[in-house]
Amino acid sequence: MASYEAVIGLEIHCQLQTRSKAFSADSAAFGALPNRHVDPVSLGHPGTLPVLNRRVVECAVQLGLATHCHIAERSVLARKHYFYPDLPKGYQISQYEDPICTAGYIDIGRRIRLTRIHIEEDAGKSLHDQDPDATLLDLNRCGVPLLEIVTEPDLRSPKEASALMQKVRQLVRYLGVSDGNMEEGSLRCDANVSIRESGSSALGVKTEIKNMNSFRHVERAIDHEVSRQIRVVQAGGVIEEQTMLWDPDRRQTRLMRSKEQAHDYRYFPDPDLPPVVVTDETRAAIEAALPELPDARRQRYVEVLGLPDYDAGVITEERSVADYFEAALEALGASLDTEACAKALSNLIMGDVLRELKRSSGAGFGVSASRLAGLARLRMAGAVSSTGAQELFQLMKTATGTAEEIAREFRLLQVSDEAALLPVVEQVLVDHPKQARQYAQGKKSILGFFIGQVMHRFDGSPDPRCVHALLTRALASHESCR
Ligand code: ADP
Ligand code: MG
Repeated sequence: MASYEAVIGLEIHCQLQTRSKAFSADSAAFGALPNRHVDPVSLGHPGTLPVLNRRVVECAVQLGLATHCHIAERSVLARKHYFYPDLPKGYQISQYEDPICTAGYIDIGRRIRLTRIHIEEDAGKSLHDQDPDATLLDLNRCGVPLLEIVTEPDLRSPKEASALMQKVRQLVRYLGVSDGNMEEGSLRCDANVSIRESGSSALGVKTEIKNMNSFRHVERAIDHEVSRQIRVVQAGGVIEEQTMLWDPDRRQTRLMRSKEQAHDYRYFPDPDLPPVVVTDETRAAIEAALPELPDARRQRYVEVLGLPDYDAGVITEERSVADYFEAALEALGASLDTEACAKALSNLIMGDVLRELKRSSGAGFGVSASRLAGLARLRMAGAVSSTGAQELFQLMKTATGTAEEIAREFRLLQVSDEAALLPVVEQVLVDHPKQARQYAQGKKSILGFFIGQVMHRFDGSPDPRCVHALLTRALASHESCR
């Protein structure tokens, strides 16, 4: 039987973090009571005129440059008409023939080409499940700015589709153009899916799955749709072009409508809006102000700081974490070995700090970067054990003082002072003559027993390496004395 491959293209909508809406001074904030941010422009009242928010253009150019797009010097805002209760104007302002960004790409291990990125305004929200007898409308979202990112049909699996979506989320968050919050709908995507016989380069008929707002939904819905198409074709059927909705609860897609065509939308340039102009100077200024992007940062951490690639990937996943890491690294100072500092910090961050970040739902790292540097310094000097460091981190969240002061107060400093440890070591040998004899007779594994005894009896936290060395020496001389 023939084998099939999936062909997938995504259309990703990303809500921008602007204060005001795309074409009016109305607040674009999420979470207000329904219908509070609804000025006459948002509602499309006759006689109102839209004015493009400059910040929206900046965001589009930032994302376009970060994804290697060509930035159009002149692009056009167009009206896309359709009737729906949550679209009081009867059309959405979008871009059609002349989008602001074209021909970019995003690397997800493979290079995925972007067809375009364009500016668009959002529609309102229909609430179907608040009142059993009615659909309610919240028009706050009308006119909230979006970027739509359209990929070429270059993706080959549900995993790749979700990876691309994650990369987009990471990028928009790094750039600060969007919070990428999928639960609140700041990032959502439509997936276009077709199948073809493996080895073929022709494109099959596609279906479109609308409006998925989690990585898991994207993966599951596409997976489900690919399987469905393969079953249809293997049973001798044909795929029909259609638009479907993913039902995450039932884990199945259902038909929404048969496919609409571009001409159904009666696109034309919005006569109320002049072309969007991005001069060379504007583009260059935005480019110069771009932050270091995650891939470049990850590479630098590997090449310059000597971090393992895995660590570098985890630390650079979120810009805030990478910034925190760098602040702590700087606080450690130039006098120490940079690679050793970087690794000590990365160990602490990948463990305690990220756990804390997750526990607090992203609210904070638990301790400031400069105090984390203090903890790393103790760890690098062997003054606290790895479990001691975990305990110390927890204490540092609430206690005041430096890592060292707190470690001292809570007796977490490892004692590696031989003079302090030796009397305990000797007493342990005296108290366990039988075991000392066994050691002398060749049962070297009994050393663990002695180490345990010393650790237990010593009032404080002995450095196990030091105890090990002292015991081996003491047992050897014990042997020769007999
Ligand atoms: P439409 O005319 O239906 O809007 P477009 O050509 O504009 O289709 O493409 C919309 C999205 O669908 C893009 O992300 C594109 O990569 C993807 N796409 C186009 N053709 C296919 C196909 N045969 N299989 C899967 N995805 C496709
Ligand atoms: Mg299209």
